[in-house]
Amino acid sequence: MRIARFVTEDQPAYGVVTGEPGQESIVQLVGDPFYQGIQESGQRHAVEDVRLVAPIIPRSKLVGVGRNYADHAKEMGHDLPVSPMLFLMPNTAVAGPNEPVTLPAFSEEVSYEAELAVVIGRICKEVPEERVPEVIFGYTVANDLTARDAQRTDGQWARAKGFDSSAPLGPWIETELDVEDLRITGRLNGETVQDGTTADMVFGVAELISYISQAMTLLPGDVILTGTPAGVGLLREGDRFEAEIEGIGTLTNFFRR
Ligand code: ZN
Repeated sequence: MRIARFVTEDQPAYGVVTGEPGQESIVQLVGDPFYQGIQESGQRHAVEDVRLVAPIIPRSKLVGVGRNYADHAKEMGHDLPVSPMLFLMPNTAVAGPNEPVTLPAFSEEVSYEAELAVVIGRICKEVPEERVPEVIFGYTVANDLTARDAQRTDGQWARAKGFDSSAPLGPWIETELDVEDLRITGRLNGETVQDGTTADMVFGVAELISYISQAMTLLPGDVILTGTPAGVGLLREGDRFEAEIEGIGTLTNFFRR
């Protein structure tokens, strides 16, 4: 099932997306599926008549994982981490699909990173790997925007990874997906710059969620960004970046100063 969040003329609402690519429609839901389950309201919209927004604004946190693909760690000149390398982003980092992102004034080197994002469905702590599927609501696409200059100078990554709109998510959450081996691509102004597979993650989804939950309680709507394959590069004013994951869809954003 594909769950989107969208705006018509009213407040944002959730809906279930159905139909073939290019002809999707959305059945509006009553309330918030993270807390009330899937209750259809009966109202239906064509996707082109609504504006999709980020499928989730986490209540508490986004957790990022650094250097989780060997070819990306190598291109950045780093060894592979021996355990997952975690960082936190505030929920104000979230932006939606097709949303223009203002590159932060403090950085001259903002990079794109196409990533698989895991959306948590229930409150959980110390989850054993074999029970991780029970706590996952679904998956979406992320672009883990990173200010490389701030990342180099700051030591901590709060500014480099946590500025406003540094974590575009979308276009929707896919709730039924096997993420063992999905193609993940990034296109800058139409040219393919990242082309990898989730099979190449150093630490897989179950391992990551279990590891993170040893340290902190995960809440419904929390989002885990699982790392990016090789091919990262810088964004400039006027650029368009598309992050695509097989079986989910394409997250497109535009960049401005
Ligand atoms: Zn990343």
